[in-house]
Amino acid sequence: MPKKLDPPAYQAPPSDTAQTLLALFHAQAEVSRLGEREQLFSSLLESVNAVLWAFDWETRQVLYVSPAFERIFGRQAALVLSDYNEWRDAVYPDDLAHAERSMADVLVNGAVEDREYRIINAAGEVRWLSDKCYLKHRDDDDNRVIIVGIAEDITEKKQLERELQRLATTDVLTQSSNRRHFFECARQAFDDARADGTPLSFLLLDIDDFKLINDSYGHQQGDQVLQRIADSGKSALRRGDLFGRVGGEEFAAVFPGCTREVAEQIAERLQREIQRLSFSHGQKPYCVTVSQGLTSLDEGDEGLESLFARADEAMYQAKRQGKNQIVLG
Ligand code: GH3
Ligand code: MG
Ligand code: MG
Repeated sequence: MPKKLDPPAYQAPPSDTAQTLLALFHAQAEVSRLGEREQLFSSLLESVNAVLWAFDWETRQVLYVSPAFERIFGRQAALVLSDYNEWRDAVYPDDLAHAERSMADVLVNGAVEDREYRIINAAGEVRWLSDKCYLKHRDDDDNRVIIVGIAEDITEKKQLERELQRLATTDVLTQSSNRRHFFECARQAFDDARADGTPLSFLLLDIDDFKLINDSYGHQQGDQVLQRIADSGKSALRRGDLFGRVGGEEFAAVFPGCTREVAEQIAERLQREIQRLSFSHGQKPYCVTVSQGLTSLDEGDEGLESLFARADEAMYQAKRQGKNQIVLG
């Protein structure tokens, strides 16, 4: 049997006073709710380690920066709110044009999320920022263009990225480019030379009787020889030249803009420098020589591979002819 329900209790309609009190009570509750909300927002803004900001595009006025501005920029918020140049002065000079151009892009794209630039903070440190920005049209009165953004300090992330990039492209033992990175850059240099019609030379260098060095003096000595030869190779380079370790005891170099004659002079200088290096194992001094194969870009070269093959052939010819020499291919 369903339970019988009691009829609802009678409620008198609220009097005027009661209605006023009720309205006051609701208003008070609303005020305290808004107050709590504001407190919540400001504690959120305080704890987020990124600067939230708003900028009036036409008047070039910074309308708002969150508390992290002072932490990240090391500058007073009041100053940037009264003068936009406070932000411009903080940007690393080389990055200012990019930082401003990429903010202007937001007018066309509505959002720019890959915006990165450096600033110099109050302590004089260079910091990397990721500063995303978004377009907001103020839909009240005069439809002003407002840009809002979020700037985050990504210095540590950038350092980590750089370190990973270095590890991925560098040979650990000799600190020169590894084979993959060397050929990637060499291929780009080849394409540029073909496109611009400029000369380019390619060199391969192989240490003579290196196995004997390892066998006679130990692997550690062999490693030191590799390191010092790599140092000689690197110091023989001009700005823009490429150098890498492309095999166990094989190195390669690319000289963009360099004719065969100039490249030959560089190779000869390197040959002499390596001959002059002195090594010792215990009391026993010894010297090391290398064989080099050198070639230059020809009309008919379709890819870097043909230069590599010619330099390789020239280098093996140098070996066959008695080592410790340069052969042109
Ligand atoms: P050639 O004059 O004909 O070039 O003879 P080579 O002895 O230099 O050439 P070979 O190819 O016979 O030997 C190269 C040696 O290089 C063999 C290998 O153990 C050694 N090697 C390769 N990588 C390393 C390295 O990282 N450290 C050391 N110590 N030795 C290495
Ligand atoms: Mg070899
Ligand atoms: Mg060798």
